[in-house]
Amino acid sequence: MTPAWAAELVARVCADASVAPPRLSWRSRAGAHSTGVARRHEGLIAVRAGADQLDQRLTLLHELAHWLSPPPRRGRRAVHHGRAFYAVAFDLYRRHGLDDADALRLESARYRSALPHAVALGIPGAVEALAAHRSTIRARPRRRWRVLVPEHRVVLERDGRWTVCAACRQRVVGINLARIRRARRPVRHVLMAAS
Ligand SMILES: [Zn+2]
Ligand SMILES: [Zn+2]
Repeated sequence: MTPAWAAELVARVCADASVAPPRLSWRSRAGAHSTGVARRHEGLIAVRAGADQLDQRLTLLHELAHWLSPPPRRGRRAVHHGRAFYAVAFDLYRRHGLDDADALRLESARYRSALPHAVALGIPGAVEALAAHRSTIRARPRRRWRVLVPEHRVVLERDGRWTVCAACRQRVVGINLARIRRARRPVRHVLMAAS
């Protein structure tokens, strides 16, 4: 069932832009976040709504921004989430009930590339959000790999339904199995694990 606010939002946004409204298909999904898709040639926006109401609104507005964005010109590569798209999207977010902080947070959670566009568009808080995001990336610890079983020659062995390496007990399947069986020279293995 499409909630009344969503149907009203579609009608209002499209009336403001003098654009024919899409049909709206609304279903629920488990989890907090919503997903959406705009299918121009079918005249349809479909939303699968999670529990977070603000995210529902942002998702619908995001798809409406696709709906309002001019279709790519012939021969041009379409930039789905480019500067022109975000100019429309952040304007809709602001005019239809999301403050800039929520818009930045929710949009960048799904598309990190939104932040540099938001900076270029002068969205308040975007510079700080981008800086915070970059420092989080720098602070993230690198994965450390350690050797569980040192390098060894693969000797295939049956283990029930599976073929395994006799030295490290890793299952060997599919094209790897075929490759090892075909190999003229011994194939070597090393078993690593991330910690
Ligand atoms: Zn999109
Ligand atoms: Zn092995």
